[in-house]
Amino acid sequence: LPVLAVVGRPNVGKSALVNRIIGRREAVVEDTPGVTRDRVSYKAEWGNRRFTLVDTGGWEPDARGIDKSVAQQAEIAIDLADAVLFVVDANVGPTATDEHVVRLLRQTDRPVILVANKVDDAVQEPNAAVLWSLGLGEPMPVSALHGRGVADLLDLVMTKLPEVSKVAKEELGAPRRVAILGRPNVGKSSLLNRAAGEERVVVNDLAGTTRDPIDEQIELGGKVWRFVDTAGIRKRVHLQQGADFYASLRTTAALEKAEVAVVVLDVTEPIGVQDLRIIDLVLESGRALVLAFNKWDLLDDERRWQLEREVERDLAHVAWAPRVNISARTGRHLEKLVPALELALDSWDTRIPTGKFNAFIAELVAEFPHPLRGGKQPRILFGTQAQTQPPTFVLFTTGFLDPGYRRFIMRRLREVYGFEGSPIVVNMRVRE
Ligand code: GDP
Repeated sequence: LPVLAVVGRPNVGKSALVNRIIGRREAVVEDTPGVTRDRVSYKAEWGNRRFTLVDTGGWEPDARGIDKSVAQQAEIAIDLADAVLFVVDANVGPTATDEHVVRLLRQTDRPVILVANKVDDAVQEPNAAVLWSLGLGEPMPVSALHGRGVADLLDLVMTKLPEVSKVAKEELGAPRRVAILGRPNVGKSSLLNRAAGEERVVVNDLAGTTRDPIDEQIELGGKVWRFVDTAGIRKRVHLQQGADFYASLRTTAALEKAEVAVVVLDVTEPIGVQDLRIIDLVLESGRALVLAFNKWDLLDDERRWQLEREVERDLAHVAWAPRVNISARTGRHLEKLVPALELALDSWDTRIPTGKFNAFIAELVAEFPHPLRGGKQPRILFGTQAQTQPPTFVLFTTGFLDPGYRRFIMRRLREVYGFEGSPIVVNMRVRE
């Protein structure tokens, strides 16, 4: 899906606008900066077109850090969005920070739409006019809080937002898109350099910004792969405040562009919350997953033993993900990455014909019927795979299946079909 990013200074009303666009009723809009939220990307729809809305403002700094944080938002938006909504407070007018952001946004060829927020009624409309001075064209007056002007804004956005993401073209036969993820210093850039250095970098400047290349196409194992958001890996961003938030934002946005994620872990350090958070983001995104255990050259027997315990304890929920034990430094087992990626993508693309899937369900139910509940037993009438990427199944039932039974079905699906490297989803539709 094309990605629309919302950028702007703290308190200009970014969250209110995001809530308005996604039509969230329970919109929490706080008048105080510094509210941390987890979600940064949302599915949105307007005029029958779907897009991903990325809220870059989930972490708001204190006054000292404002320039830096807004610059960071703008940078991520430039790298990873197909269009940008730049939100300004019409009642305040353009500030030095706004002008700074405009200079950053000018470096991209992505469409940028200037939103003059807090224009709550017609009387305030002239306030928006001063924003022409920012040089981004006509300011679009809106009131995110009351909804005024938002429909017109979205109509305009639809004329600027590409049908399919430019950054992630879904062409048939196009290179598969890989995101290399992991917390700082696990060896992402070393891995990328190894891959790019030993093999041939095919095209080095994709997505056409005047800045760093965002994606790189690299030939590996006789095939061209597209590594997304390599700019985010190569760039060393030194940001004290909100570093975690911006890392999550970048990870989420990169996943949006990717089909498969390689989560790099550093075997010399315990598996930590940051690693698990990144894996969670991959699971949320529904992308295929490969785990790369890096710095294997530094592993001694004792640490190796600990690592096995940690994997058993912390990574049991992704036991289905292929694992490669590599060293970006020595090049050890790097060649195993390609088959792992291929396996994960094959699983992610898998479609099980409806007849086969129903035979599978019938056999499973015959062998292990759903436990009786109050003398009754929910029956599965019919099942089908509704989607691929990732494989998503729907079961039509006469009552809710126990969560345990649903997990059992998923386990069985994996036993029979594998699905290594791909999440799978089993949904229910209860027919009364
Ligand atoms: P990034 O922040 O994830 O991109 O991590 P870097 O690629 O910058 O690597 C962080 C540090 O780990 C650097 O000093 C690398 O030289 C080192 N490093 C990366 N991969 C390996 C490896 O496989 N073995 C060893 N011994 N060091 C590594």
